[in-house]
Amino acid sequence: MALRTVKDFDFKNKKVLVRVDFNVPLKDGVITDDTRIRAALPTLEYIRAQEGSKLILMSHLGRPKGEKKPEFSLAPVAAYLAELTGWKVIMATDVIGDEVKAAADKLEKGEVLVLENTRYYAGETKNDEELSKNIASLGDIFVNDAFGTAHRAHSSTEGVSKFLPSCAGFLIEKECKFFDSILENPKKPFVAVIGGAKVSSKIGVLESLLPKCTTLVIGGGMAYTFLKVQGHSIGKSLFEEEYVETAKNLLAAAEKAGVEIILPEDHVVASEFSENAVAEAVDSIDIPEGKIAMDIGPLTTAKIKDRIAAASSLVWNGPLGVFEFEAFAKGTLKVAEYVADCPGTTVVGGGDSVAAVNKFGYADRIDHVSTGGGASLEFLEGKILPGIAALRD
Ligand code: ADP
Ligand code: MG
Repeated sequence: MALRTVKDFDFKNKKVLVRVDFNVPLKDGVITDDTRIRAALPTLEYIRAQEGSKLILMSHLGRPKGEKKPEFSLAPVAAYLAELTGWKVIMATDVIGDEVKAAADKLEKGEVLVLENTRYYAGETKNDEELSKNIASLGDIFVNDAFGTAHRAHSSTEGVSKFLPSCAGFLIEKECKFFDSILENPKKPFVAVIGGAKVSSKIGVLESLLPKCTTLVIGGGMAYTFLKVQGHSIGKSLFEEEYVETAKNLLAAAEKAGVEIILPEDHVVASEFSENAVAEAVDSIDIPEGKIAMDIGPLTTAKIKDRIAAASSLVWNGPLGVFEFEAFAKGTLKVAEYVADCPGTTVVGGGDSVAAVNKFGYADRIDHVSTGGGASLEFLEGKILPGIAALRD
């Protein structure tokens, strides 16, 4: 279904309510990473360039849980935005109410009003209709550009779209473009690399991608439940007994569909799950008693490299090992490098996977590095994201 975007709208002389993701890390009132603020600028600049338009921005910040706690105020973000852009930015005293309404109505062209933290209201996360209506009354058009919260039906993401003409900003548009193309009509060979800690958190992604892909690489902690199902010894590696049936079914479904499954064939193991544990190479599928698999080994990495090099489309979610510990980061580092070199369309989603790609410095050589952890996971699971569904025709 076609997504309505800012290109479909005329913002001349309009008050434009934009849901941004200004949920930035703050330390003692100072913004420690402004990536999200900068990421919102293309959409804001595009709207602001139209004669007479006025911007009203809203976002959540942290978890004030329905209380007006000053430490969760968006005031430092508004000040930062003013400094960054040179725009006249006015900080609202609240999210809704007469005072805020008056401030919105008084806006001169080119001015920007930043509403207070939407989660100052408990109704926000309950998608309360009254709150949505009150927010909507502030503007003429609603633009959603907060992909990170698009999987939640909240007042400021989904609710408000019921009361105003609404569309996606450039960030959401880009996320949809890549995820839609990968999920609806992936060019083959399509390689999916799924890692991370647990089968339980990735089963939805595995089931959704399996029927679409040519090769499914299963790595990370969850691979060991699969290896155990295949009759291998896995030592003290992560094992989810309750997912044995699920793993069996998935392997059977892959065989039936002719999808190649790649599981670890060699490993880097440790005697304890710790940063300082000594890394030991195991060049067989079976893992010695008492050892914990912490990363994939070089044979597995080489096989993954071949498949990625031949992929026309690729999606990667979940690290292949405990990449936070230097001694067990190599598998993930290598895969990040192969994904960067992949000739096909490449999409990386998931909080930790994106952190890995950034940490290793490959982000700018990947076609799309998703900005939303939970949202990208739900996209890959084939779920409908309510914040986005509301923007489609
Ligand atoms: P994402 O956030 O990209 O979706 P996950 O949250 O599913 O990824 O998984 C990330 C976590 O998986 C990391 O903290 C990593 O340490 C862990 N992990 C990877 N491989 C293993 C392993 N072999 N054993 C235990 N944990 C692992
Ligand atoms: Mg994670």
